[in-house]
Amino acid sequence: MRIAVTGGAGYIGSHVALELMQAEHDVVIVDNLSNSSEVSVQRVADLAGHAPAFYQTDIRDVQEIRRIFSYHSIEAVLHFAGLKAVGESVSEPLAYYDNNVNGSLQLLQVMRELGIRQFIFSSSATVYGQQEQPPFAEHAALGPTNPYGHSKRMVEQLLEDLCVSDPSWRVAALRYFNPAGAHPSGLIGEVPRGVPNNLMPYVLGVLTGRYEQLRVFGQDYPTPDGTGVRDYIHVMDLASGHVAALDYLQQHAGFNVFNLGTGCGYSVLQVVETFEQVSGHGIPYTVLPRRPGDVAESFAVADKAWKSMSWRAERTLQSMCQDAWNFAQRNPEAY
Ligand code: NAD
Ligand code: UDP
Repeated sequence: MRIAVTGGAGYIGSHVALELMQAEHDVVIVDNLSNSSEVSVQRVADLAGHAPAFYQTDIRDVQEIRRIFSYHSIEAVLHFAGLKAVGESVSEPLAYYDNNVNGSLQLLQVMRELGIRQFIFSSSATVYGQQEQPPFAEHAALGPTNPYGHSKRMVEQLLEDLCVSDPSWRVAALRYFNPAGAHPSGLIGEVPRGVPNNLMPYVLGVLTGRYEQLRVFGQDYPTPDGTGVRDYIHVMDLASGHVAALDYLQQHAGFNVFNLGTGCGYSVLQVVETFEQVSGHGIPYTVLPRRPGDVAESFAVADKAWKSMSWRAERTLQSMCQDAWNFAQRNPEAY
């Protein structure tokens, strides 16, 4: 298929673009490079053995998107472009609603105009509410608690309504749990700009000497060791999950939602210990109070994707830490 990958220079999009190219799809990357670099597109080309088409374009530039999609006769859009920092979304809500909600809306309008009806959306486990205890199945109560989460839920709603209005749409909203790791080559991976908010990139910052010690946010949660538990999923598994979702959409119209997680949670200290094992270095840490807005545990019921699309995550926490460490060592200056 001829597939547009918005945000394809970013962390998850670059891995998915590569996976699609390796599955013989024609890939067109559209990214404004606001949180990424063209180097990752070049690395995807090196790994695939041929280059994807690349446009440094904002998804809200309707004229340009229309031109690109029609020039390449795009058949499906995988939509990763957007802003993703929860804390920043609280201080800059307009930027989040503009990029994430308005950006998606503009994209869908162009798609409708051009008759493109297949869409895969990067949603997030952050749409689940706190009324229920994890594990979260897709039908669990929703209730995001910050503008980033609201923006994801609003786009899901928009997609659901669109599919009701016109049954020819084929849409999958994929709710990622905690993406981690890198391509095993060490050529593409996560390159956080500024001080990372997320656990794994921060631990890597400690391992590479950028930060003195990890700050563990809370050791008084009702979890086995008192630290927060999350469902980390290897970015390579996420990538294969997108190809599975695209295959699924060839047989299933309408709005479909899937968790992409492993169904298994690990604590902050288990992540630290695993990084210590794979790197052979100690990781100093200090325990601070809980981070506002954090939940004790979040992990998926991952059965639906397995039953419907025959996809499940295969890779272990060990391989996430190993591949992330390999990427950090090979790219000391990032890119
Ligand atoms: P990322 O920042 O690495 O990738 C997003 C890409 O989109 C970047 O390359 C950025 O330059 C581009 N972009 C942003 N706004 C754009 C715009 N208006 N027009 C064109 N390009 C734009 O982030 P990621 O971790 O790869 O996340 C990809 C998607 O997955 C996002 O939608 C994110 O919300 C979602 N998601 C990520 C996580 C996570 O923990 N990484 C978890 C759940 C969901
Ligand atoms: N965390 C931590 N120190 C950090 C970053 C995160 O202790 O520097 C903890 C955080 O409190 C949570 C877990 O690690 O329990 C995962 O946090 P992350 O931000 O990676 O993911 P999210 O909270 O968005 O699921």
